[in-house]
Amino acid sequence: MAHLYEAAPTGRSKCRGCGKPIAKGEIRFGESMPSSFGEGEMTLWFHPLCAAYKRPEAILESLADAPEAERATLERVAKTGTAQERVPRVDGAERAPGSQAKCRCCRQAIPKGTWRMRLVFFEDGRFMPGGFLHLGCRGSYFEGQDVEERMLRFSPDLTAEDREDLLRAYRSEPLRTEPCEAATEAGASG
Ligand SMILES: [Zn+2]
Ligand SMILES: [Zn+2]
Repeated sequence: MAHLYEAAPTGRSKCRGCGKPIAKGEIRFGESMPSSFGEGEMTLWFHPLCAAYKRPEAILESLADAPEAERATLERVAKTGTAQERVPRVDGAERAPGSQAKCRCCRQAIPKGTWRMRLVFFEDGRFMPGGFLHLGCRGSYFEGQDVEERMLRFSPDLTAEDREDLLRAYRSEPLRTEPCEAATEAGASG
């Protein structure tokens, strides 16, 4: 089966990318893949733009079927996600609720109350929590690719004030340039 675009028949499906419901009648994107439960195929539903951020290859494969009004945007966004392999992992940002989490790039603690970027890995048809980054460590982790737009996209629950504060921090934080420390824990690499 191929990927598809269709009007959502109900308002019950949730977008795999942002976790928010897809409204009835809204155009949704279905990524088709082998079922993770054995035989057959399964379809993962997304807002098309969320898929362009997080599943860029699937969007680029099926661009010809995308609604014409959205095609150029979807293509532009998806291409920012194929330019560097880690970029589609961005899952928004939040203030660290504690100081336990270590940054995936520098391996140092992320101080409580400071902004951290959330990462997810796509494995076996699911997005798995992939740890966190200091805002400044994005320079190394994403090799200089800008991820501001996608960071905001996947932080839909921030207040206007928090968004502003996040952007201020994002834009003023000195960027790390030396390579990230090698991974020491098991699991998804890099
Ligand atoms: Zn979404
Ligand atoms: Zn760091």
